[in-house]
Amino acid sequence: MAYDDDNVFAKILRGEIPCDKVYEDDHVLAFNDISPQAPTHVLVLPKGKYVSMNDFTQGAPDAEIAALIRAVARIAQELGVAESGYRILANSGANAHQEVMHLHIHIFAGRKLGPMLVRRD
Ligand code: AMP
Repeated sequence: MAYDDDNVFAKILRGEIPCDKVYEDDHVLAFNDISPQAPTHVLVLPKGKYVSMNDFTQGAPDAEIAALIRAVARIAQELGVAESGYRILANSGANAHQEVMHLHIHIFAGRKLGPMLVRRD
C-alpha cells in the first residue's frame, strides 16, 4: 500500500494538527492516544513515511528501527510503568484493524490489562 500524506499522523508529524506529546527524538514522535483504552495509552511513531511493519522492516535503516524500539522502552521507563507492566501492540493491515496508515506502536499500561485478545471462538 502506498503511503498517504494526508493520514492524521502525517499531519501531526508536520505540525498541522496538535498532539499531546510525551517524547520526541530525531527518528521518533510519541503522544497520548486521543481515545485512551487504558490509564496510559501512548502511540509511538517513526518519523519516516511507513504504512506498516511490512514496509518499515523492509525499507527503514537499522538506526530508525533501533530508535523506535528503544524509544518504546524508554517511554515506558519515563512514564513509570516499566516495572508494573505494560503491553505494546502494532496493528498491521486489515485483519489487525489498523485504522491510521502510518506505523505506530501502542503502549498500554496503568491497570491490569487482562488477556491478550478477546476470544471469539
Ligand atoms: P490503529 O487502529 O492501531 O490504527 O490505532 C489508531 C489509533 O490512533 C487509535 O487508538 C485512535 O484513538 C488514535 N488516534 C486517531 N487520531 C488521533 C489523534 N489525532 N491524536 C491521537 N491519537 C489519535
